Amino acid sequence: MSLNLSTTAKITWCPGCPNSAILVAFRQTVDELVSAGKLKPENIVACAGIGCHGKISDYLNLNSFTSLHGRVIPAMTGIKCANPKLTIIGFSGDGDSLSEGLEHLIHTAKRNSDIKLFIHDNQLFALTTGQASSRSPKGFKGKSTPYGSIEEPINPLLLMLSSGATFVARTYAGDIENTKKIMKAAIAHKGFSFVDIIQPCITFFDTREYFKDRIYWIDEKIPTNNLGQAIEIVRKENGKTPLGIFYNVEKTTFEEELDK
Ligand code: SF4
Repeated sequence: MSLNLSTTAKITWCPGCPNSAILVAFRQTVDELVSAGKLKPENIVACAGIGCHGKISDYLNLNSFTSLHGRVIPAMTGIKCANPKLTIIGFSGDGDSLSEGLEHLIHTAKRNSDIKLFIHDNQLFALTTGQASSRSPKGFKGKSTPYGSIEEPINPLLLMLSSGATFVARTYAGDIENTKKIMKAAIAHKGFSFVDIIQPCITFFDTREYFKDRIYWIDEKIPTNNLGQAIEIVRKENGKTPLGIFYNVEKTTFEEELDK
């Protein structure tokens, strides 16, 4: 790696936590895009919310902003409106943007802000030691649901597709090479990019074995401009978890409309 994106901050994620794999994938993504002349490091703003994921901004030698819980998206939108030349990349968790700040996510997808959001989806609130989030499966036993959650989880891909997001994808944290490919495509996309990153919490909800036989990459030849087909793929999970780019279309962005 030619760019030094490390900081002196001590990494305090649990040893072996897949958050570290996301950090590696992102550092390599930025390094490769900068080397290829597609990105300038000084133009990147790495934003984060609150949760285990939120520590990532401390570990990146880039301009950064750490928001209040669930409020990373409005912070990103504000930065982009103030200086549209910047590339705004946000990290969030399912507790942060799919539970606490869910309304911001829906409105951002609807208005197609030109910002990129990577969700560290570990299906619970991990920083607070294991409470159910909107992504926890039915039956999940945690601090707030000791007898098992009685609710079905939301499907974030379906939610984003039906809310108007123009780039919707999912990857698995442990697959660094494919995560880099998805991150690069998300950053290249003009408009709102939503990437769900399955990131098992190995301390409070270790789903590594569960996902091992369930994740699969969709055929890259499937067109990514067909909303109905994308909805069909992400709805029909059948016990399996599809990964890949499901939807990728161009549309006027919020900032372009604002500029008018
Ligand atoms: Fe990772 Fe879970 Fe530890 Fe948080 S609590 S650092 S998500 S393993």
